[in-house]
Amino acid sequence: MKILVLNAGSSSLKYQLFDMDTKDVLAKGLCERIGDGGTVTHKKGSEKYYEETNLTDHTVALSRVLELLCSKEYGVIASVEEIDAVGHRVAHGGEQLKKSSKITEAVIKYLETIVPINPLHGPPAIAGMKACIGLMPGVPQVAVFDTSFYSDIEDFRYIYPVPYEFYEEDRVRRYGFHGTSHRFVSTELAKTLGKDIKELKVITCHLGNGSSVTAVDGGVAIDTSMGFTPQEGIVMGTRSGSIDPTVVTYLMKTKGYIAQEMENILNKKSGLLGISGVSNDCRNIWEEAHAGNKRAELAMKMLANSIKKHIGAYTAELNGLDALVFTAGIGENDYEVRELACDGLSYLGIELDKEKNKNFKRGEKQKISKDGSKVEIWIIPTDEEYMIALDTEKIVNE
Ligand code: AMP
Repeated sequence: MKILVLNAGSSSLKYQLFDMDTKDVLAKGLCERIGDGGTVTHKKGSEKYYEETNLTDHTVALSRVLELLCSKEYGVIASVEEIDAVGHRVAHGGEQLKKSSKITEAVIKYLETIVPINPLHGPPAIAGMKACIGLMPGVPQVAVFDTSFYSDIEDFRYIYPVPYEFYEEDRVRRYGFHGTSHRFVSTELAKTLGKDIKELKVITCHLGNGSSVTAVDGGVAIDTSMGFTPQEGIVMGTRSGSIDPTVVTYLMKTKGYIAQEMENILNKKSGLLGISGVSNDCRNIWEEAHAGNKRAELAMKMLANSIKKHIGAYTAELNGLDALVFTAGIGENDYEVRELACDGLSYLGIELDKEKNKNFKRGEKQKISKDGSKVEIWIIPTDEEYMIALDTEKIVNE
């Protein structure tokens, strides 16, 4: 079975074509600047093709992707008919779409009703679905939601302590994001340990440009750091993570910022970039920190501490811990962040092997805790696209 996985952003469209029988990625790529010019980067194995073109909308972009996938020179299939199903990454499934779902008119209608709480990611995801339905009629489409892993979180953990009407009338609550990644790495951990996931208490740390930490009890997410939006929780590349909400209203009053400006500051100018003044990329910040830049050092200490606080809190909520997993750009690659975040947690049974952690092998699943550590610490590379393809295959075969 061949499955095309799509991830539509406001001006971008990422794609991967999987052969599910061999688990191979046949081709993948990225369309950018949709609606404002257009570029396509297409990869088939080690071969890379790049073009500057005119991508007026997501339908035009998808049409070009399908042409490339079928082209004599860069293609991997003879015709679009070889694609058995399409899996769409969808950030938000609201309260109703609690698991990966076949895309129907009713699903699209519901997603349209929740655009107000998902204004950035909702419209492009819907555009991607409509483009597929138009260009590949009859091919089953499946939506995989980042929020659905959090469907079982209990109300006392997802309701915010503000007047209850804001939940009832405005759907203001914790939704959680990155669920597909947290689900993938926790499942992968259980497989690797040869254990039933139902027996495991795990904390998964997805640390990338956006970061979140999730508590997984028996394969079920019971709490997570991202909330109503991906703004809450850990200090991120350019997002603040959790702060006292009064900081926002205070700055609006004293500096005269309007809501849009404040959102822009909290989303694009805060986090590691805002603190360090250097970059949102840990590699650049560490370079500066090692050269004596105090603000760069402060930013990295703050990141590590916010991870540590969540590990402590979630160990308490889980009432114990079997494993701690690091994944995504920072989680998989930044040994210094992992070391700082795990430092001083031996009371909880978390003991990092500093040598293994420092000499980790890039891109590989590996254990980095000390041999006697009560809690195993693992690096597990995430693969959200493959998880989406697996869900799509399962639903199509139901
Ligand atoms: P992601 O969103 O998962 O692609 O992660 C992107 C972030 O991972 C970058 O902004 C970097 O901060 C971080 N990152 C990627 N590679 C490395 C590396 N080799 N060392 C440290 N941080 C890295």
